Amino acid sequence: MPLQDFCPQLVGSMSTGAAGNPTVTMIEAGFAAAGLHWRYVNMEVAPADLASAVKGAKAMGFRGFNCSLPHKVTVIPHLDGLGESAALMGAVNTVVRRENKWIGENTDGKGFLKSLTAVVDPKGKSVVIFGAGGAARAIAVELGLAGAHRITIVNRGHQRGTELAELLRSKLNVDAPLLSWMPNFSIPKNTDIAVNATSIGLYDANAKLDVDAKSLTPNMVVADVIGNPPRTRWIRDAEARGCQAIVGLGMLVNQGVIAARYWTGIDLDDDVMRAALEKALGL
Ligand code: NDP
Repeated sequence: MPLQDFCPQLVGSMSTGAAGNPTVTMIEAGFAAAGLHWRYVNMEVAPADLASAVKGAKAMGFRGFNCSLPHKVTVIPHLDGLGESAALMGAVNTVVRRENKWIGENTDGKGFLKSLTAVVDPKGKSVVIFGAGGAARAIAVELGLAGAHRITIVNRGHQRGTELAELLRSKLNVDAPLLSWMPNFSIPKNTDIAVNATSIGLYDANAKLDVDAKSLTPNMVVADVIGNPPRTRWIRDAEARGCQAIVGLGMLVNQGVIAARYWTGIDLDDDVMRAALEKALGL
């Protein structure tokens, strides 16, 4: 009997402080439902040990791994190549083994796009993104690749906001204004899609973006990256104003489904994965 009938195919997650990560439960539920003899293993890797961990994963036959903060950028020098959007955004959350080479991909923005396109095609649309961190970069690049007409960046800190707007203009040729986040910020009237890509709302259902809720109009699609709790204040305010709202939990499931497709070549059952994630998060 071949060795792989005894030993599962391995993928993992390299992060710091990852104990109890609900992603493990979600991905393993997807593997089990598909009848795959695969395991997803959490590995707590200190920044100083990242190079050794990447080499070790290859030596141990891993098929790939996810990277969480703080490894999403620093892993890049240890890889053999990057997919298109990962190269544009300069960050990797999924590494896949192709012909014994480690290739970095980024499924965060792709997961968001999958949730969004179920509701609206961003091609030709005017988008406002709050935030300019890793999630905002991933989302903005995918929206640019998908043909968004204008992507307005609104960020608390000027430096990160400037860098993201400049990336969109120079590498994707997108109209990308940077607006200062003034108190009680009013969303421009011609906006089709408004996205919270900040960490405001994480573990706090009442945390509020400093945005004038009256500037949310029923023609807008409003999305959040926050997966826990799913029904953030941003989502509740948007629904109260008649907007179509997209919660961040779907993005979290989708990024896992897309990563698993890179590793295994098949689509895992997203309903099973979502149910497992919700259970693990106690929702
Ligand atoms: P980063 O630390 O890279 O960026 C955080 C962003 O939030 C920055 O733009 C920061 O602004 C902004 N921010 C934080 N606090 C405030 C505040 N009080 N007021 C205004 N702006 C604020 O984090 P990530 O981009 O990696 O992650 C952001 C969120 O996205 C996290 O909560 C994470 O859980 C979620 N996420 C969800 C995913 C999903 O699949 N659903 C996938 C990836 C991330 P500044 O630059 O000024 O500091």
